[in-house]
Amino acid sequence: MRKGSLFVVSAPSGTGKTSLVERLVELMPNMVESRSYTARSPRPGETNGVDYNFVNRETFESMISRDQFLEWADVFGNLYGTSKADTEEKLASGLDVALVIDVNGARQVRQSGANATSIFILPPSPSILESRLRGRSQNSNQEIQERLKVAREEVKAFNEYDYVVINDEFDAALGRLKDIVSGCCARVPDARPDVDNIVATFELK
Ligand code: 5GP
Repeated sequence: MRKGSLFVVSAPSGTGKTSLVERLVELMPNMVESRSYTARSPRPGETNGVDYNFVNRETFESMISRDQFLEWADVFGNLYGTSKADTEEKLASGLDVALVIDVNGARQVRQSGANATSIFILPPSPSILESRLRGRSQNSNQEIQERLKVAREEVKAFNEYDYVVINDEFDAALGRLKDIVSGCCARVPDARPDVDNIVATFELK
């Protein structure tokens, strides 16, 4: 059976990556979004096992010491991580997996030697990012300033990624993401063994 492909998606907070990836997964029947572990508390409306696997700090730290994360990072003072076992299981079952993680986590995935395609989503400007952060009214003024400060650093990491998508307009950005994912799955190493099976039938006399 064909093994799934791994995708890493990063973007500064407020860029719209969550909505874009949610929609992408709806459009790509073979793709699932990874569910991260986090030691932060659920926000109103968030459900354990749906938005994240919410665990306490002690459990998270014991998962780190048992090497259970493909990557993990401290983002805005909270711990987030991707389970190695969950990811491997999904890939082995043939599903493409999207990890929506920060730039530090993306670096760890690269260093792990995992075969991943990475995509950076770039907000079109700092002022548009600020108005998106304010518009979703999830963060205090101080948090928004902190996120903008971090974003100024994060955008510099774009050239560590295989692809960059500017989220100027939702549908256009979604279309570009879809093209990238479809293109990657058609690359010869990713298309095997389906392609090998078809080619083998041509060799039958
Ligand atoms: P939030 O608390 O708003 O849900 O997420 C904050 C940030 O944490 C997101 O922008 C996302 O990039 C990052 N994040 C979420 N899950 C993971 C993860 O498993 N690993 C890493 N490295 N970052 C994550």
